[in-house]
Amino acid sequence: MITSSRMSALHPYVPGEQPKDRVYTKLNANENPYAPSPKVIKAVTDFITANPQKLALYPDPDSNELHAKIADMINKTGGVLCRAHVAPDGSVTPDESDRIPFTVTPDMIYTGNGSDEVLSFVFYAFFDSGKKFVMPQFTYSFYPVYAGFYDIPMDQVPLNEDWTLNTEEMLVRVKNNGGGMIFANPNAPTSLALTREQVRQMLLKANPDKIFIVDEAYVDFGGESCIPLLKEFSNLLIVRTFSKSLCAAGMRLGYVVASPELINTITTVKNSVNHFPLDAVAQVAGCTACENPDYYAECARKVAQERDKFYNFLKSRGFYVLESKTNFLFARHPSIGGEELYRRVKEKGFLIRHFATPGIEEFVRITVGTAEQMEGLKKVFEEII
Ligand SMILES: *Cc1c(COP(=O)(O)O)cnc(C)c1O
Repeated sequence: MITSSRMSALHPYVPGEQPKDRVYTKLNANENPYAPSPKVIKAVTDFITANPQKLALYPDPDSNELHAKIADMINKTGGVLCRAHVAPDGSVTPDESDRIPFTVTPDMIYTGNGSDEVLSFVFYAFFDSGKKFVMPQFTYSFYPVYAGFYDIPMDQVPLNEDWTLNTEEMLVRVKNNGGGMIFANPNAPTSLALTREQVRQMLLKANPDKIFIVDEAYVDFGGESCIPLLKEFSNLLIVRTFSKSLCAAGMRLGYVVASPELINTITTVKNSVNHFPLDAVAQVAGCTACENPDYYAECARKVAQERDKFYNFLKSRGFYVLESKTNFLFARHPSIGGEELYRRVKEKGFLIRHFATPGIEEFVRITVGTAEQMEGLKKVFEEII
């Protein structure tokens, strides 16, 4: 055999489809329907045209400027864009409920080539091959892929009947396994969120010397961030991304917020695998996005509004829909299966996501787009149901 024995342990992630046969309205990968801020477009264009030679040089391997700008954005917004208050002059302040009781500093930030790469390094750095880590049975489906890649045993805990996380059982398993824990909050694909206080209660009972990872990819659309808990729990590590709320999935920008000690550990992994995870253009785009949280707060609010409207529409059409705190809706209909609904919606030019995974195969996951896109999808659903 030409391949290493490791290859048999790989089960690659299957992303939402990107068909080329016709133009679809793409509501299947939880991307943001809005373009980045015009200021980001200008900064990127200026960077390339004003300093072409810069593209011939290596970028800053540690993205220092970007780390400072991310920290600054978090302090200004409280880490939840859809609730941040925007003054007429464009300045942004956190909602009272999101206020962070300390200042997030640049040494608490790590950035990588999308949070997928960040998660990969985090798995390598903090999960042991000798101890099972705990995660929910239905959560971001890349976690099991990394477990296979790094040969880390996992312990998947079934959700409660109402699709919420079974936090009690997760804590029991963490104690028994003596390892770490990871989940997305809000969770995917269920769209449901734990409150910060619920996560805090988990942290109080989890292993204080084992990593506790919260993936906040969707928190800007209405969840509660756990950033305010970082000073109380040194084992807490928060993963976030520019791909959803910062309209930049194509730039590949993900980050971690954690104690400087944990950040140093991930940096050591990074410098042992890929010294320059962020290219120069991505760093410019990221910095400029962070300087304009007012624009992104507005985008997140619009998405949250459309989500709530579409939630009500689905309910009125007899769907069972989970109470989303994200930019997508997870729903099933009593008289049409998930696979069939996905297929018939696709025939009409809209892509939504269906998972063939046993247990959730009756559901579809619908990314929330613009008002116009959701109006179009509504018409399609009205024809089908
Ligand atoms: C989209 C998503 C990610 C990946 O984001 P990238 O930064 O684009 O790699 C990570 N975690 C969850 C839960 C996601 O939904």
